[in-house]
Amino acid sequence: MKEYDVTIIGLGPTGATLANLIALNGFSVLILEREKSYYNLPRAVHFDDETMRVFQTIGITKDFLKYTIINKGTKFVNSKGEIVLDWPRPRKITENGWYPSYRFHQPDLERQLRKKLKKYNKVKIENNSNVYRIKNYNNYVEVSFNNTNLNTFHEIKSKYVIGCDGANSVARKEINSKMNNLGFTQKWAVIDLILKKNKKNLPDRTIQYSNPNQPATYCRNVRKRRRWEFAIKNKQKENKILSEKYIWNFLKPWLKKNEAYLERKTIYTFKSAISKNWIKGRIFIAGDAAHLMPPFMGQGMCAGVRDASNLAWKISKCLKNKHDERFLRTYQSERFSNVKEYVETTMRMGEFVNAAESIEITNNISSGSDGKKSMQSIKPVLGKGLGNNSDINRGKIFPQLKLKNGKSLDDKFSNSLILILSSKLRSKKKLSKIKTVIENEVIGLSDLLKRYKAKALIVRPDRFILQSCKTVKGFNKFIKNFNKF
Ligand SMILES: Cc1cc2nc3c(=O)[nH]c(=O)nc-3n(C[C@H](O)[C@H](O)[C@H](O)COP(=O)(O)OP(=O)(O)OC[C@H]3O[C@@H](n4cnc5c(N)ncnc54)[C@H](O)[C@@H]3O)c2cc1C
Repeated sequence: MKEYDVTIIGLGPTGATLANLIALNGFSVLILEREKSYYNLPRAVHFDDETMRVFQTIGITKDFLKYTIINKGTKFVNSKGEIVLDWPRPRKITENGWYPSYRFHQPDLERQLRKKLKKYNKVKIENNSNVYRIKNYNNYVEVSFNNTNLNTFHEIKSKYVIGCDGANSVARKEINSKMNNLGFTQKWAVIDLILKKNKKNLPDRTIQYSNPNQPATYCRNVRKRRRWEFAIKNKQKENKILSEKYIWNFLKPWLKKNEAYLERKTIYTFKSAISKNWIKGRIFIAGDAAHLMPPFMGQGMCAGVRDASNLAWKISKCLKNKHDERFLRTYQSERFSNVKEYVETTMRMGEFVNAAESIEITNNISSGSDGKKSMQSIKPVLGKGLGNNSDINRGKIFPQLKLKNGKSLDDKFSNSLILILSSKLRSKKKLSKIKTVIENEVIGLSDLLKRYKAKALIVRPDRFILQSCKTVKGFNKFIKNFNKF
């Protein structure tokens, strides 16, 4: 039986991100994907700065940026055509070192992630491979799959297995976990078009039509791609909704039939659900296998990328040192509450798009002097897990700062743990094995340490703060904890 460090089931965006991050740490990865190639039609069209920072670690941003545009934001419009809420995405670099939000075409991203994976000789991608059984043992996991092309059956051994196998995950069934339905279930039609010529009167932003008679969304996607989505009432017949006649009639206020190609028309049931358990022994689930949310905030795929970023360095550490179940369990405890906040916020946004009633989507909504309402993006911290949960800085995102030579701190110490020290602690620096950065080497670090009221910080490979140290006196104790990592 062939053996691997990690086996990933499913090569969607979650699996491809996770495989890249683990390969970066030098471990062997087998990826089993049921389909012949990636799904070549549009699904996700938006991602955020935090997600782009993970792509930066993987090393695809230089090429991938060409396939993205900066997203300007979303307006919510009621049935009278009045703007009832604005969700701007200012064209300003955020603490993650990127613009707050981007538009893209999912197949472009999947192509870039796969291209990068092909550069690692310890990564093996097996397409046409349908996983049907996963068995947990104390020191390894056994995976059974069949090659649907050749009709052959195979078994492999792996130290860890991660099911990134989407909504109907076989891995989730194997760990015996149920999806908890959080309450939003609604059918929507999704219509993707490619304009024949640019059309200036189409909005440059996303528009949420909060109209109880016909809730709908318009997305300004990359290049000449545009998307409309609209809610379907239970009694409406799906084949009628997807008929060209119905679609072009719906699009009449914006487009004539001869102005665009209809690329794809489909109906999705938008769901909100989170799996109760994400881990059993050496089997994990991530991405849509662990959670589902409607696409109103464009955060489903982003959440899968965050899962991958959280789990990759923890599994890598266990592969390097030894299996540590308690340590690995922090993957679920840290990610669960973070993703739950996205799912619940998305549900409230969906309800607002449906009825234009309660505007309480987040507590980040404010009124300007003209009475106009504006919303800021949410940035939930990590749930309880590693580090001291009473440490006020633990679980916050550490900003992407620049060294005095202009290089980014993320690029210099890509994918590693970093110790950040105030100048007062410089003399105590007897930590040659640890990648260390001193206050005066980095632009803006003095102000940041003041803001955090900290003398030292440990930043995790996924760029969250593991721990902060308030006083010079407390540093020895602080570093003792650090040595555990
Ligand atoms: C209309 C729509 C719009 C969306 N818009 C956005 C957006 O703008 N932004 C955003 O962040 N998210 C968005 N999403 C959500 C996003 O598309 C998903 O969250 C994302 O694709 C999930 O990625 P994943 O890798 O976890 O799962 P998937 O993409 O579902 O990939 C799972 C993979 O596992 C494979 N697989 C399944 N079972 C097996 C098996 N037994 N053996 C082997 N392989 C298997 C499948 O073939 C598949 O390739 C949208 C979704 C929809 C439907």
